[in-house]
Amino acid sequence: MPEMLEKIDIHITDHCNLNCKGCTHFSPLAEPFYLNLDNFTVDIQRFADITGSLLKQMFLLGGEPLLHPHLTDFFPVARKAFPNTEIIIISNGILLADQPDSFWLACKEYDIKIWVSLYRLKIDYDKIGARAKQFGVFCGYTGTRTNDENKKDWGNWKLDLEGKQYWADAFSHCCLKNCVTLKKGKLYTCPTVAHIEHFNKYFGTNLEVCEYDYLDLFKTRNNETVLKAMVKPIPFCRYCKTREYQSCCWEPTKRDIHEWI
Ligand code: SF4
Ligand code: SF4
Repeated sequence: MPEMLEKIDIHITDHCNLNCKGCTHFSPLAEPFYLNLDNFTVDIQRFADITGSLLKQMFLLGGEPLLHPHLTDFFPVARKAFPNTEIIIISNGILLADQPDSFWLACKEYDIKIWVSLYRLKIDYDKIGARAKQFGVFCGYTGTRTNDENKKDWGNWKLDLEGKQYWADAFSHCCLKNCVTLKKGKLYTCPTVAHIEHFNKYFGTNLEVCEYDYLDLFKTRNNETVLKAMVKPIPFCRYCKTREYQSCCWEPTKRDIHEWI
């Protein structure tokens, strides 16, 4: 079988309706952003052309993708460009049980799976499961749901505002390096560099993204270039203290910079 990327992440929205402490996608800091269908169509077709539609998994996420009022319009476009890829919506589940029949029918028609990230929320997971079953849609769960308030079920590593980390060392200890992210015509090794703009804007910092931190899809010729670029450290890794992962209990964000540094 030819070599292919394991997966890509695509933000359907940048903002979220949950707002977790230290979110690695910086969603609690993001202003409302809804992905434009025309831009998505151009990007996904270009990505399919370069990769020959070879991709194991595509995650449509955010933020919270169900906040997008036209989420189902993305399904036929994604499926047409990647007919053999596993396409999965990642949701925190808050809005899932009350989705209309048209949502579930579209998931079924275009073979879109759903993974619900589990948090300490009062969500009717039985109703979600029943709706998915009713329409023949796969619905799985990720993360740890716990009622033990003292259980460390959350955590992240911190950013180094001065950028003094060794790229290769930071990269080698990074748990996000396989979360290749497609955003605005560019392919990033991880969500951190793809979405750092929200952190910079909210806190007035300047963690710099340079031209060596991403691949411009419209200047990239082939899949080999993609595969090589996505497994290498990038200059932005100097901002990541990946050796210093800290576990904690999940809680809502206070939007304090110390959740991230
Ligand atoms: S649900 Fe996910 S995207 Fe939303 S704030 Fe929490 S970690 Fe971030
Ligand atoms: S910039 Fe490098 S170290 Fe930081 S999250 Fe991305 S891949 Fe990991």
